[in-house]
Amino acid sequence: MVMQQMTKQDYYKVLGVERNATERDIKMAFKKLARQYHPDVAENKEEAEVKFREINEAYAVLSDEEKRQLYDQFGHQGVQGSGGGYGGGYGGFSGGFGGFESIFESLFDMSGMGRASGQTRSRARRGSDLRKDVEIELEDAFRGKEEDFTVESYQTCPVCNGRRVKPGAGFKECKPCQGSGMMRNVQNTVFGQFVTSSTCGHCHGEGRIPEEVCDECRGEARTIRKERISVKIPAGIDNGMPIRLTGKGEAGEFGGQAGDLYLFVHVKEHQHLKREGKNLILELPIGFADAALGTEKEIVTFDGTEKIKIHEGTQTDAVLTLHGKGMPDLRGGKPGDLLVRLKVVTPTKLNEKQRKLLCQFAEEGPQFHCGKKGFFGKLVDALTGKN
Ligand SMILES: [Zn+2]
Ligand SMILES: [Zn+2]
Repeated sequence: MVMQQMTKQDYYKVLGVERNATERDIKMAFKKLARQYHPDVAENKEEAEVKFREINEAYAVLSDEEKRQLYDQFGHQGVQGSGGGYGGGYGGFSGGFGGFESIFESLFDMSGMGRASGQTRSRARRGSDLRKDVEIELEDAFRGKEEDFTVESYQTCPVCNGRRVKPGAGFKECKPCQGSGMMRNVQNTVFGQFVTSSTCGHCHGEGRIPEEVCDECRGEARTIRKERISVKIPAGIDNGMPIRLTGKGEAGEFGGQAGDLYLFVHVKEHQHLKREGKNLILELPIGFADAALGTEKEIVTFDGTEKIKIHEGTQTDAVLTLHGKGMPDLRGGKPGDLLVRLKVVTPTKLNEKQRKLLCQFAEEGPQFHCGKKGFFGKLVDALTGKN
């Protein structure tokens, strides 16, 4: 791991948290930033990579009680050699999400300060989390949908089933560490002498090595393969909601736990229906005769047809609520409502007969006028300076 010689930013500032931030605050801030600056998703990759590295470094220190204490006391000096460098690669999988969780695990994969002696660390690493995006119609979100897709990523090796050895072969004891997986070493640091145990480089902490390595995965226990995945997207899902498929991410390295797959669901906009939380909003144009006289209309919903009653004297923007006809509740609770917003449409192209009829209508009431200026017309003219 190469140490970086550059002016370092304050770790709290990097994560945007206060100096007294809780463990949880730090974790939340980190996750948010890691998603934002992940080089696989960010627009400016180079900038994101630098930022991503900074975030990981800051998190590596601040998420560890011991390192955080040293950092608070001695600053960057205090934690050199623990969170100072960044050596983990992200993801091996293009288009993947990379493993922001597995990255910081790898940050501690070195011996030195901050690690209590006697602690063991095997080479096993959790597989990366993956991200997949799907787009569905609003109607699919209303009913729920079975979605099939293919993911290409690291999967457990089918030949050795993740055992890493050739079928029929076994393991033998690691000689350099005598099967313990650990090597003892003494370090002199500015804080005094530390006796630490570090992972055996020969067996990577396992204490045993394969007699013969699997040809298919070359002993890594995983290979890149395509997998078909079928997911039931629940009714009521909202735009941008991720569905977590535990263990469906990349297979772990050397027997580590598999990562998770996050399916991000994007719900397309509907031509007529707008969604606000659980409610659906339908804008319905009605003629002004219907608005004045009242009528009944039929509207088509995802569930079938509904009759709605438009009352006499309806004004534009009046809202009719159809209870329970909105989106289903994701957790099986009460569904939302369908709100029908009525838009009174003023006719624009009148023929002579209609014009006449409207004039007749207007002359019947004092609040209307036909061509001639009533009180309000005169008032407007006075205000705008016309005579
Ligand atoms: Zn294999
Ligand atoms: Zn060993």
